[in-house]
Amino acid sequence: MIKVCKFGGTSMSDGTNIRRVAQIFLSDPARRYLVVSAPGKRFGGDVKITDLLYETHREAVSGEPLNAFGKVKERFKGIVRELGVAFDMESVLGETEAEILRRKDEAFTASRGEYLAACVMAAVLDVPFIDAKDAVRFTEDGKLDNGATFALTAAALKGKERAVVAGFYGADAAGGYHTFSRGGSDVTGAIVARAVGADLYENWTDVSGFLACDPRIVDSPDRIKTLSYRELRELSYMGANVLHSESIFPVREANIPILIKNTFRPADEGTRIVPTAGYIAGARPVTGIAGKKNFAVVFIEKSLMNSEIGFARRILSVLERHKISFEHMPSGIDTISFVIDEAELHGVTLGELEREICESVHPDQCKTLKDIALIAVVGHGMSKTVGTSARLFDAIARAGVNVRMIDQGSSELNIIVGVDNENYERTVRAVYDEFFR
Ligand code: ASP
Repeated sequence: MIKVCKFGGTSMSDGTNIRRVAQIFLSDPARRYLVVSAPGKRFGGDVKITDLLYETHREAVSGEPLNAFGKVKERFKGIVRELGVAFDMESVLGETEAEILRRKDEAFTASRGEYLAACVMAAVLDVPFIDAKDAVRFTEDGKLDNGATFALTAAALKGKERAVVAGFYGADAAGGYHTFSRGGSDVTGAIVARAVGADLYENWTDVSGFLACDPRIVDSPDRIKTLSYRELRELSYMGANVLHSESIFPVREANIPILIKNTFRPADEGTRIVPTAGYIAGARPVTGIAGKKNFAVVFIEKSLMNSEIGFARRILSVLERHKISFEHMPSGIDTISFVIDEAELHGVTLGELEREICESVHPDQCKTLKDIALIAVVGHGMSKTVGTSARLFDAIARAGVNVRMIDQGSSELNIIVGVDNENYERTVRAVYDEFFR
């Protein structure tokens, strides 16, 4: 039995917590490989090491004194002092500062939080430290190079009974540094689990698993005990932020389950993420509800659109020209809509988009809606339960909310409902009450 554990920033935030991490890791001999994040916040209002490092980069580039790095140094020196571990932090920090100034490279600077945290953890546990630049490889366009990464990680860990791997970063094809997007140590954990053929990927964080709904909207929502990879992908993509949304790909292909655990309440059961839903007939049809605000919908109507060759391609070329990716594409016989995250518009106005689409496909009608919130109602059980969508839309109607858009993927794994931003919270509450209370 091999378990790979990843501990997040809150778990690594100070010496006491790092000691707690070491204890958890050592309490189970199956826990062999440890992936760590950079130290996160110790209290509300504190600043994460990674944020200080991004600020350090900005200071380095603009030639200002590295004030933010001063804070990074204090944090790491404090951690080593508190732990009483034999690690020459002073000189490593000196070398790091010199390299930050020499390289002026954002990815290098941002990656130092994980690098230093993993060095300290390896010293505490007295096990080898693995530098992620030797284990994780990105392609030229910044995507994870799966083949090279799994091979390099497996080679780096071969023959090592235990090891600590730095999360969040790797090297690109030219040997430069590259990071995942924020929260990316989750992906590193999944890579390590995949590379060593782990039986379980334990992801230790500061919550006891996934909740069925955002607790800022619904008071103490239920915890989800079991979730399938696909349900997780839908929920985390739509804003359920426990795990990085890309972290399932490496483990999913190898059918390695993920267990979300709470470092501060290790006895809590957590949430298990498994290949199949484990759905039991008659159980709740909906597993979880997630959502996000601020989408735009471009709606295009043209009679006989269905028989016009290249119609969708011409619209997509307009989006492509502006480097806009779309999230959903609900369609009817004579209509097609594109749902776009407003942050993706990169300064193009909806009016400009409308105009260009009109020029390229001459529709009968093209209109855009903005400030739309999407709510994803997710669950494998929905396809097995008659009347789920009736209950869903009935609940929304009873809440007095007008539905602006509906999209149901052919998998019946989720139903996406679009409502005006201002109705978002009310809709989520109504749906939660319908399926969970
Ligand atoms: N330290 C990085 C961040 O704050 C990566 C991570 O914690 O996973 O985003």
